[in-house]
Amino acid sequence: MKLNFNHKRVVVIGAGKSGLALVRFFLERGATVALSEVRKREQLTGLDSLAGLPVRFDLGGHNLELFEQADLIAVSPGVPLDCEPLQRAVSCGIPVLGEIEIAAREITVPIIGVTGTNGKSTTTSLIGEIMQAWGKNVFVGGNLGTPLVEACSTKIDGAVVELSSFQLETIDQFHPTIGMLLNLSSDHLDRYPDLQSYYRAKLKIFSNMTKADFVVLNADDPEVCRLTDDLKATKVWFSARGRLVDGMVRLGEKLVWNWAGTDIQLPLSSLQLSGEHNIENAMAAMIPALLQGCPAELAWQAVCSFTGLEHRMQLVRQLNGVSWYNDSKGTNVGSVMKSLAGFASGVTLIAGGKDKGGDYKLLRPLLEQKVKHLILIGEAAQKMAADLSGSCEIRLSEGLKSAVQQAYKITPSGGTVLLSPACSSFDMFANFQARGVEFERLVQQLPLEGEAS
Ligand code: ADP
Repeated sequence: MKLNFNHKRVVVIGAGKSGLALVRFFLERGATVALSEVRKREQLTGLDSLAGLPVRFDLGGHNLELFEQADLIAVSPGVPLDCEPLQRAVSCGIPVLGEIEIAAREITVPIIGVTGTNGKSTTTSLIGEIMQAWGKNVFVGGNLGTPLVEACSTKIDGAVVELSSFQLETIDQFHPTIGMLLNLSSDHLDRYPDLQSYYRAKLKIFSNMTKADFVVLNADDPEVCRLTDDLKATKVWFSARGRLVDGMVRLGEKLVWNWAGTDIQLPLSSLQLSGEHNIENAMAAMIPALLQGCPAELAWQAVCSFTGLEHRMQLVRQLNGVSWYNDSKGTNVGSVMKSLAGFASGVTLIAGGKDKGGDYKLLRPLLEQKVKHLILIGEAAQKMAADLSGSCEIRLSEGLKSAVQQAYKITPSGGTVLLSPACSSFDMFANFQARGVEFERLVQQLPLEGEAS
């Protein structure tokens, strides 16, 4: 049900992209708005976009009175729900809602929700590409790019929304008509007490789905299979390992769509995205379009024209016979495993950053097979070195610049250097994009063989 915010006192907590969008959203609806943020003004970017608007700023900490006197608290995904101001608001009986929930109460068009540990942004973008090619006016965003509240003021036919576990924690009535769970592996254990709590947050995507809805699930992922037994919605599976399912299966060099009597075949040779994980993303992305009646050929063409998002397995440069890849978005162990799996042996891997409690030991078999040198940076470096000791040659480096220089010296022609950190970036950078941009800048500065450095 649509909420009425006119003359309501709303506190938005968190001044990131979603928080700033929420402030504008509430002002447009006649609310009195305060923006509360633990960081100081000089640490924030984007506040300028609120210049001249009647917002009360509560920066550099939280004024608890403000929270106690509010009619509603709107939470940005970056803010942990157990922080004091939110706990205080809850104990005063004040409703606490997240950005997705607030937006979804106003969105009446069908929503495709995409979650999972890895592949969300790529899959969301692929679905967006297909819908656009099909002539649909679809909002594409959420955790990726534009916050969902911005979709409330636009005329659209549908929405494709990437959903993080943090965003799903604060949903209540949010109801996608197609809910997608791509995979589940360890992540964000710096924010969740254990893996099951993280998985529970992800599974909330399904909580309001009914028999009339579809869920798209990865048949090759044991955790996805184990945790989705009791869903009400109709299950549509995909399997890149050729498991026989009603849905989308990879059989050798083609994909086969088996659904309600149709049997459609799609050639994998046309796909431009590289890596096994992107085959999974492509398979998943095709399903909502096919369920909705989009012609398969048109959808597949859109998928095949997509060359990938920045900072995900991007070839930056070929220099002196060495290929340099930026996978700065490889921020957990599962994603690094998928990225490494696509390479032959002899990789120089640059990893490390802010530790999220991942189990680095899971990387050992792939490091043994694929990695010659591992260069570690950031806060997690010591822990990773201890967990991975003996699996390959390990070096510690002061920062990204010296890691790139070391990689340049030790990687022979014909080799590969891959930045895929298995950690978040926040110990040294504003976000994964800034880390990727810096990596690319450093790589572009490296001299050709024979050139003076
Ligand atoms: P997310 O939005 O879930 O973080 P992205 O599409 O941005 O996912 O990809 C981030 C990284 O995760 C990629 O660089 C790649 O290393 C890895 N990845 C992408 N798709 C998958 C997948 N389906 N399974 C496992 N890892 C993946």
